[in-house]
Amino acid sequence: AAKIFYNDDADLANISERSVAIIGYGSQGHAHALNLRDSGVDVRIGLAEGSKSRAKAEAEGLRVLSVADAVEEADLIMILVPDQVQAEVYKNEIAPHLNEGDALFFAHGFNIRFGFIEAPAGVDVAMVAPKGPGHTVRREFEAGRGVPAIVAVEKNESGKALELALAYAKGLGATRAGAIETTFTEETETDLFGEQAVLCGGTSQLVQYGFEVLTEAGYQPEIAYFEVLHELKLIVDLMIEGGIAKQRWSISDTAEYGDYVSGPRVISPEVKENMKAVLSDIQDGTFAKRFMEDQAAGAPEFKELRSKGESHPIETTGRELRKLFSWNKVSDDYTEGSVAR
Ligand code: NDP
Ligand code: MG
Ligand code: MG
Repeated sequence: AAKIFYNDDADLANISERSVAIIGYGSQGHAHALNLRDSGVDVRIGLAEGSKSRAKAEAEGLRVLSVADAVEEADLIMILVPDQVQAEVYKNEIAPHLNEGDALFFAHGFNIRFGFIEAPAGVDVAMVAPKGPGHTVRREFEAGRGVPAIVAVEKNESGKALELALAYAKGLGATRAGAIETTFTEETETDLFGEQAVLCGGTSQLVQYGFEVLTEAGYQPEIAYFEVLHELKLIVDLMIEGGIAKQRWSISDTAEYGDYVSGPRVISPEVKENMKAVLSDIQDGTFAKRFMEDQAAGAPEFKELRSKGESHPIETTGRELRKLFSWNKVSDDYTEGSVAR
């Protein structure tokens, strides 16, 4: 069974002797910095010259330095800039300032797993990855709760890397909920698979196809939107509470019977074979290579796919509909939030 750590398994003393540098002040960066600071940890922020995030961090009373200076000062460096820029920032501004005994932390194993970053001897490499968006990590902490996290150690040069990772997770509030031990390989591969096959890729495509089939058959787009997108949250909430079983218990018998007979017809065994192909592209580095090469070229494929997604008719219908409903007022705030644009 997976090993899960709670508050009592972690000792903040292991991190209170440390100087922590949080590199990046975006979705995860702001949450890590503020939660650790409020847990009594010595935190500074590393940002590029002219960074847009600088004012936000300073408004919270945090000290902001250049990335190089923050790394120089600190002996625990958490890298929270976007995955596709980490290798570049690491090479130019982090690696030259690492010393023996330092610890390099990540919130996702992508760059270590696929070899874009290789830490020098004498430096611990560990991961504390909250299983939720940064804004939730901060909100839950302030409410006295925590978002569960994953912890992993890639290189244990000090012999105390796991203790340090657990102390970090405690400062973040994660061990209030539970920190599950894994490896960089397992975290990276399952995280990419989950978001591609099910959570983001699979779900988005499923919803778009559902919307297309209904509207192409002449049904009103507003009705289609409610049936295939809006209600999704209500269904998923039930799954989180009590699994697929509770969801099926709560819906009508009509819906439950339809689930059994039509689910496997829509998501046929062929889809499982497609998922296996996606997993194999993740495991052998094909996906990572394609993503990083596109990013290095200025992200032409990424930008094209993004604008194609944004112009799907379901977005227009959704925007108009959400305006009408006061219970959903904040839903279009995402351009201001965690999504980097
Ligand atoms: P964000 O896109 O929110 O990070 C943006 C921050 O990085 C900003 O402060 C930005 O500065 C800074 N930045 C961007 N480019 C550079 C650069 N070249 N040099 C210095 N700073 C730079 O990242 P996330 O928080 O989404 O992701 C960080 C890590 O956390 C990733 O490894 C991700 O996989 C992981 N993660 C993210 C989750 C999430 O909720 N988003 C969940 C779990 C893990 P500026 O304002 O100037 O642009
Ligand atoms: Mg992910
Ligand atoms: Mg219905």
